[in-house]
Amino acid sequence: MEVDVAKNLKTVLQALPKQVQLVAISKYHPVEYIEAAYAEGQRVFGESHEQELKQKVATLPKDIKWHFIGHLQTNKVKYIAPYISMIESVDSLKLLKEIDKQATKHDRTIQVLLELHVAEEETKSGLSFDACRALLDEGEWRQLNHVQICGIMMMATNTDDAVKIAQEFDAAWHFFDEIKQQYFANDDAFCQRSWGMSHDYQIAVQHGSTMVRVGTNIFGPRVY
Ligand SMILES: *Cc1c(COP(=O)(O)O)cnc(C)c1O
Repeated sequence: MEVDVAKNLKTVLQALPKQVQLVAISKYHPVEYIEAAYAEGQRVFGESHEQELKQKVATLPKDIKWHFIGHLQTNKVKYIAPYISMIESVDSLKLLKEIDKQATKHDRTIQVLLELHVAEEETKSGLSFDACRALLDEGEWRQLNHVQICGIMMMATNTDDAVKIAQEFDAAWHFFDEIKQQYFANDDAFCQRSWGMSHDYQIAVQHGSTMVRVGTNIFGPRVY
């Protein structure tokens, strides 16, 4: 292995406050790298493609908790519904309903995060703050008994401007507090703020993150 996964993982974990959960983003990396992190005790991994995830799930230990972090088409939900632990990238009611439907078929509850669009980049998916409010106001989500909305996920703009990144995290944090109070005040499960990646997780943990998604800093650059 060219990358010292164990050493990198330790470095990242040491930089995290105890209450912040690490999702090791293993997309495009071989199973050997995941096994190396697993051997160090890491159990939560994130992937963004259904096919790739399926192959990895088949060979890796069953006590891994898999998070889906990429854009998810509704017609792909049925493939991951039997085993996925959390889907962090829910950006429509349609997708939420499909996850509920497929989870029901497998008699399980799937945890989800609502993905917000905060970054400037056009291509990044997610709900605007207003679209997220509208989804929650509409209310149908309350009838979905096989999804558990656990919080929000977002990506900051890809920039070296630490002030700007911090402002975006703070805006998301403020929004989290708003919807927590308005819709989830009595729901302890709604508690996760998933933000922070390799280049900005140290800023993220100072600005409200409870869950960071780190790939490159653990596994090295991805080979596409
Ligand atoms: C790939 C990816 C990450 C990890 O990015 P790194 O820069 O490699 O840490 C985090 N979140 C999402 C949504 C991703 O797609």
